[in-house]
Amino acid sequence: MIVDRQGRRFRNLRISLTSACNYACTYCVPNGKRLVAAQDELSAQAMARGVAYLIEAAGIERLRITGGEPLVSPKLEAFMGAVGQMGLSDISLTTNGQLLARKLPLLVDAGIRRINVSLDTLDADAFRSIARGGDLATVLEGMDQARAAGIKIKVNMVPLRGQNLDQVMPLLDYCLARGYELRFIELMRMGHLAKDSNAFLQQFVSLQQLLSLIGEQHEYLQANAPVDATAVRYEVPGKGFFGVIANESVPFCRTCSRLRLSSTGWLHGCLSSSNRHYVGDLLDQPRHQALPALQGLLMKALGDKQEVAFSGGATVMKIIGG
Ligand code: SAM
Repeated sequence: MIVDRQGRRFRNLRISLTSACNYACTYCVPNGKRLVAAQDELSAQAMARGVAYLIEAAGIERLRITGGEPLVSPKLEAFMGAVGQMGLSDISLTTNGQLLARKLPLLVDAGIRRINVSLDTLDADAFRSIARGGDLATVLEGMDQARAAGIKIKVNMVPLRGQNLDQVMPLLDYCLARGYELRFIELMRMGHLAKDSNAFLQQFVSLQQLLSLIGEQHEYLQANAPVDATAVRYEVPGKGFFGVIANESVPFCRTCSRLRLSSTGWLHGCLSSSNRHYVGDLLDQPRHQALPALQGLLMKALGDKQEVAFSGGATVMKIIGG
């Protein structure tokens, strides 16, 4: 097992199944162009082999499938069929929810029990202007159907000053009423926002600002969370839970256990580092040849983690997954 001086190791793998996305969210894709799949994306089989090798070489225990938008990928079914057999303790998915109702039978058959749905507003006009794709009613219907199928839902919202701050309370109440756990994600200095401090600061909403907004209408208490959790969790007594992924206000680098594999075969040990390590070629090699080389690259990827705090990164979320 590869462990660093701070005792950190990789336990959680996030796979970006494709960089293609049917949205072009303002904070993720500044030019508004919806992404298509990269030409050199790995096959479902190579990505599944990557998961198997990383379970062995890094001790991966949990997998999250993300993107781009994983539900638009033709690789989804074959990939999920393969990784479902690998003995992982948890397989979950992050999606914008647009194709959730359509893909639900496939997800249920593959044993998915937890889904994170990204949803920044309940206002249809604001939805169109932030996501620049998709349809709000379709997402809400997909969530209803997933909940009815017994899937546990978390909702990811990125609060953005000037765009959706008026939606913090409606979205929280909507989620509490349905048993969805809302996760506010503090805006991260990724991609164009890493280069443009003004654009970042104009839109950024901090943990404290969120809590004071919520405190005007709800009492809340801090709740327990796993040691390597990224979110600070709160309970609204008698109503449910919400969390804040406060990468700026409460950095979680000291306990970070995440490793990312992009759809084109690059390993990323840290969102805040532009270092990446190519493993696409190793995934075509037999296990006994691939594993020693992979170990070396995993050491480098672990060394890319920040000591204390996330400071931003040129890499874009849509490429490596959130
Ligand atoms: N398409 C899927 C979805 O919408 O959930 C998965 C990929 S998306 C990149 C994953 C998450 O990253 C979303 O919840 C999105 O809001 C978040 N995200 C993207 N860019 C971000 C940024 N600069 N700061 C904070 N969150 C960001």
